[in-house]
Amino acid sequence: MPPVLVIGSVAMDHVKTPYQKRQKLLGGSASYSTIAASFFSPVRLVGVVGEDFPEEYWSLLASRSVGLDGLQVAKGKTFQWSVVYHTNMDGRTTISTRLNVLQDFSPTLPRVYQTTPYVLLANVSPKLQKYTLGQVQSPLFVAANTMDFWIKEARKTLLSLLRDVDMLILNEHEARELTGVTDLVRAGNLILELGPEFVVLSKGEHGALLLGKNSLFSCPAYPLGAVRDPTGAGDSFAGGMIGYLANACNEKNSSGITFEKLRLAVIYGTVLASFSVEAFGLERLCTLTWLDIERRYNSLCTLSQFPF
Ligand code: AMP
Repeated sequence: MPPVLVIGSVAMDHVKTPYQKRQKLLGGSASYSTIAASFFSPVRLVGVVGEDFPEEYWSLLASRSVGLDGLQVAKGKTFQWSVVYHTNMDGRTTISTRLNVLQDFSPTLPRVYQTTPYVLLANVSPKLQKYTLGQVQSPLFVAANTMDFWIKEARKTLLSLLRDVDMLILNEHEARELTGVTDLVRAGNLILELGPEFVVLSKGEHGALLLGKNSLFSCPAYPLGAVRDPTGAGDSFAGGMIGYLANACNEKNSSGITFEKLRLAVIYGTVLASFSVEAFGLERLCTLTWLDIERRYNSLCTLSQFPF
């Protein structure tokens, strides 16, 4: 199975929802994306943690089919992120973003990682995304994710990165922030002009839109009884998508990546994101089985009357 390289943040998250408050959860864009992708393909994780990173989190990552040769331990503290979700979880306020060891992280990819065919530049500074991608030789498919923080702080570098990205995944607010346009389809089309061949716009409980130059696909969200912690939904979605694509597409050239496959990848991404938000942090993704994924995939296809 072709491997996927994931570069992003590995974090200790502090999360407060209207129902519960949890400290020092294993989080970060790379953690969520890696675990989600690992259901489909072997993953090579590139990231950094501090000396305070708990042993149990190492074990958790090591227990998946995840290559950890690119996960460095640096002197200092692990990246920390604190967030409070609003009353009906429809929005959130970031209380603090402490980059810590992530601030000066400048990875040298292990030699074998430099030829990874599928790459996910998970949410982290565009400078770091660009630097890492520069070390991968002729990747078959590059997906990237970002967030409002980087759109504001590093717009210029992000725009230059987009020229080397095949697919950008971001949420509706980020798409509006990036383009200055309210209408989502128009925002998506403007992003396509910036470089990516495909763009995926996630809309929380309203699903996701996949746009290509002349194609459009709309996928509803899986209807959930209870959302416990929305953190990492976007990252799990992105990880599910890239993992599925690596699993389902040709390893030799990018011609295997059709719009049809991307549609299925969006459905799998939606399924992984729906599981992720059912519990705090990575708790639900870590108990998930392949059977759970297939059942929910089938039920989402049936509910949505997809002819797959
Ligand atoms: P999401 O809910 O999908 O937007 O992802 C939230 C995850 O991204 C959390 O686990 C955070 O640790 C991580 N995160 C938050 N802010 C940043 C940032 N500025 N750079 C990298 N990762 C971040």
